[in-house]
Amino acid sequence: SRSRAAADLTRLTRWVDDFPEPGVQFADVTPVFADASAFRDIVDALASIGEGADLVAGIDARGFLLGAGVALELGAGVLAVRKAGKLPPPVLGREYSLEYGTARLEIPADGLDLSGRKVLVIDDVLATGGTLGAAAELLTDAGAEVLGVAVVLEIEALGGRGRLTKYPLTSLLRV
Ligand code: AMP
Repeated sequence: SRSRAAADLTRLTRWVDDFPEPGVQFADVTPVFADASAFRDIVDALASIGEGADLVAGIDARGFLLGAGVALELGAGVLAVRKAGKLPPPVLGREYSLEYGTARLEIPADGLDLSGRKVLVIDDVLATGGTLGAAAELLTDAGAEVLGVAVVLEIEALGGRGRLTKYPLTSLLRV
């Protein structure tokens, strides 16, 4: 359930000051995913909001772990939305700005027909919203219908929710 997942996240997330840059409080969810019942709770909670999705897009890299679990649960396919430079050409890409720096997300431009696919986009942490926003726009540009975007942990002070108003946003825990 949502409340069990939230309790798991509260208990097991490791907060690290000044990583990867001074002033950033980094939420490391590695211990949450490594706990069997916490991982189960989180995948279940995300799957319960993904009804109707036929594809789950997980964002590099912790979103991949969640995305595969949720896709299996939903009976959907899974798509890895990659950081730049990992996929062979041709690719579709989208630049975005981060809490710390800029980056680019990519998906394959060939061999994948996303038109009409109903997609749930998943990542671990919502900070400024740049990453999820770029992923959702990229998938929309590729012809997909983004049903929603979801994260396990939302860092409210960074204002990501305000940048994602085009898509229904679910977070399992807000801090
Ligand atoms: P943003 O685009 O600012 O919403 O950043 C979200 C992406 O960067 C996610 O893929 C997170 O894994 C990572 N990230 C950014 N800030 C943090 C943070 N403070 N703690 C953990 N992960 C973060």
